[in-house]
Amino acid sequence: MSHRLEKLRQRLAESELDAILISQGENRRYLSGFTGSAGFLLISEKRAILATDFRYVEQAQSQAPDFDIAQIEGELPKWFPDLASSLGAKRIGFEANDLSFSTYRQLVATAGEKELVATEEIVESLRAIKDDEELELITRAVELADAAFEEVAPMIHPGMKEKEVAWEIEKLLRQKGSETVPFDLIVASGPNSTLPHARPSDRVLLPGEPVVIDIGARFQGYCSDLTRTICLDNEEKNFSKIYDLVLGAQLTAIATIEARMSGEEADALARTVIEQGGYGEAFGHGLGHGIGLASHEQPRLGRGSSTTLVDGMVFTIEPGIYIKGWGGVRIEDMVVIEKGRAKVLSKAKKMD
Ligand code: ZN
Ligand code: ZN
Repeated sequence: MSHRLEKLRQRLAESELDAILISQGENRRYLSGFTGSAGFLLISEKRAILATDFRYVEQAQSQAPDFDIAQIEGELPKWFPDLASSLGAKRIGFEANDLSFSTYRQLVATAGEKELVATEEIVESLRAIKDDEELELITRAVELADAAFEEVAPMIHPGMKEKEVAWEIEKLLRQKGSETVPFDLIVASGPNSTLPHARPSDRVLLPGEPVVIDIGARFQGYCSDLTRTICLDNEEKNFSKIYDLVLGAQLTAIATIEARMSGEEADALARTVIEQGGYGEAFGHGLGHGIGLASHEQPRLGRGSSTTLVDGMVFTIEPGIYIKGWGGVRIEDMVVIEKGRAKVLSKAKKMD
């Protein structure tokens, strides 16, 4: 973890901050290794403190050896001023996307000489680039989702309910070693599949309709995300046409994404293919998202994303076409940028 702290301290210096208060859960885990669900980090040039309550002190001591553990009691405004003073910090950053407005107001009221500075995405931008250890855990999470999909695919048949399929997959994921799945699994058939974030329902699968299956596993905190769309009747002409277009868009993006592109440029690679096929309007979301300790994190691949892609970034490539009343097709793989190009991590079979 110490190289992560080093990078963070560079950012603090660049932002002329004496210290930063980390309240966001995944950021806390990323920097300290502490997996407990409550606690804060206070990090300055010289010191790193993990503040948590009595339930977690022992765990924190064993999981976060780079940190001094401070046992705290009560809400943040109660203990923060003293702890911050002990660091001698004047300009202290906080995570504006995480701290609530009411907590912020109370902190300001008790801050005295200290200046609280809103920061955004400092740790998130570090998290976007994965180290070897993270890549290994992500690969394990990818393998779990691949294996669960491969095992469930031959079992899916007309007459099954969406919910039944989703539950079979979740059971398999957990049996194979996944922690709590990172998001509600999606099994959406026919018209339900036009909703990119549909919930599994009691709807019965019918032949000739698309079935979007979007699943993920979690391994030692790291997430995977995989989507396959199947059709329980290979002869369905309309399905094949839409499916081939989405697959073509996805493979084009995978083959042509390069480091130094922006998230918007990467998105355009797939979007152009779908637009040229006449379905531009039906691809209503971005091409993909970063993934790691959170199932959605930096970088974002989509319109308006200026993030530059660099080696070590892990993200999804998931174009889709959604046609009201008929259904949707989405295909999603995870990739890592390696030597400037996208290397595919997901291995679950696609329909051909
Ligand atoms: Zn997904
Ligand atoms: Zn996704």
